[in-house]
Amino acid sequence: MKAHDGMYIGGAWRPGAGSDVIEVVNPADEQVIATVPAGTAEDVDTAVRAARAAFPGWAATPPAERAARLAALRDVLEARKDEIAETVTAELGSPPALSRTVHAGVPVAVAGSYADLAATYAFEEKAGNSTVLHEPVGVVGAITPWNYPLHQIVAKVAPALAAGCAVVLKPAEDTPLTAQLFAEAVHEAGIPAGVFNLVTGLGPVAGQALAEHPDVDLVSFTGSTAVGRRIGAVAGGAVKRVALELGGKSANVILPSADLAKAVAVGVANVMSNSGQTCSAWTRMLVHRDQYDEAVELAATAAAKYGERIGPVVNAKQQARVRGYIEKGVAEGARLVAGGPESPREQGYYISPTVFADVTPDMTIAQEEIFGPVLSILRYEDEDDALRVANGTVYGLAGAVWAGDESEAVAFARRMDTGQVDINGGRFNPLAPFGGYKQSGVGRELGVHGLTEYLQTKSLQF
Ligand code: NAP
Ligand code: MG
Repeated sequence: MKAHDGMYIGGAWRPGAGSDVIEVVNPADEQVIATVPAGTAEDVDTAVRAARAAFPGWAATPPAERAARLAALRDVLEARKDEIAETVTAELGSPPALSRTVHAGVPVAVAGSYADLAATYAFEEKAGNSTVLHEPVGVVGAITPWNYPLHQIVAKVAPALAAGCAVVLKPAEDTPLTAQLFAEAVHEAGIPAGVFNLVTGLGPVAGQALAEHPDVDLVSFTGSTAVGRRIGAVAGGAVKRVALELGGKSANVILPSADLAKAVAVGVANVMSNSGQTCSAWTRMLVHRDQYDEAVELAATAAAKYGERIGPVVNAKQQARVRGYIEKGVAEGARLVAGGPESPREQGYYISPTVFADVTPDMTIAQEEIFGPVLSILRYEDEDDALRVANGTVYGLAGAVWAGDESEAVAFARRMDTGQVDINGGRFNPLAPFGGYKQSGVGRELGVHGLTEYLQTKSLQF
């Protein structure tokens, strides 16, 4: 695999300050496919300085010109879709079709949406005798996970650039090659030097240095709750803006009037897609007791069919973690109806699509984010019971409701403590704000709400 042996800082690829490297492993065959530099605090500092130097010029660039650069970025991402998809498959292990449609496809739509928003957003408004200016926050430190390598980057960088901010990105150590391709695309799109900078490296080294850097004005983080908490605390101590996207344990609520077969089929596919490594995945299926046995049978069959198509999880540590959760589910008394903790293949970090029945709300597998292809099916007595179970975790990122008619599903969705709900299998919308209630996070990504995260207001009175 093609890899840069430097970091993209100030518009050029430069060697890192240290000599350590990160090995990039293909999770499907466990082979090392490339190495990238492991950035240090010194590299982060160089990148933040480059961003700071570029910030005033980019902030003063007319929004229409920023929009034109973002449109160019979208075009490059579109033109290099195949290469992006191949790279995501190589370092994340996702099946080629998923890499093309989702991993390479969605970022094109998101970049395009911010090209449009930069061109149309009212960066100035009137309020009584005031003019309110919406100004960029400054230098952004973006820290991203590996599960949707390019999407997670674009969902932060595109709105930040649209707002007029400069960015330093520290991508996940497991998926740095996609991040390098993104940096190439930024360069090709003619975005001025220093406006976007990339430091590859380890979380506790480069990530932490970025989060703690005094000249970073806003930290945007997506990843685990444990790291998110620390980053929130550091940002709080420094009184700087922070956005945290920390995962979920979303409910898929199937009301008795729903098309059960469809709701179960879509629900299983939702959990198994990307090998279960989706923070908004509907990992808890809630079924009325009268339809429970039928739903369990449908889900077990669907999961077994999915087995041939599923990719590996990202690394050995995640594989061990997911297997540990499956063992815990069995130990706590849940009934395994598909899959299980054994590796389905000799090589690669694979997990069988797994379905648990007779899961109760207090079980670990019903409370904690597993981040693997594991579905829990829970039984409810009536609608109030379903709501209690749906809302009964510390998370609140996403969810789904299925019912015979939309208004019934919407009435239930209004009572859910969660940031996004798909009604009867509603389609992904790149303009819909995405983010968490409760411990799923702070702030929103995507659409106009994702843009305003990177803006601060200044009021002029006349
Ligand atoms: P993670 O460690 O939180 O990784 C997210 C990002 O933060 C990565 O770029 C990571 O770098 C970086 N990071 C790690 N420690 C840091 C620190 N002390 N300071 C600053 N940045 C730091 O997550 P993970 O270990 O990859 O995955 C563990 C679990 O997190 C998963 O099982 C899942 O439950 C959850 N997760 C959630 C999402 C989501 O979309 N919400 C995405 C991925 C994972 P490294 O890559 O070097 O670790
Ligand atoms: Mg980590």
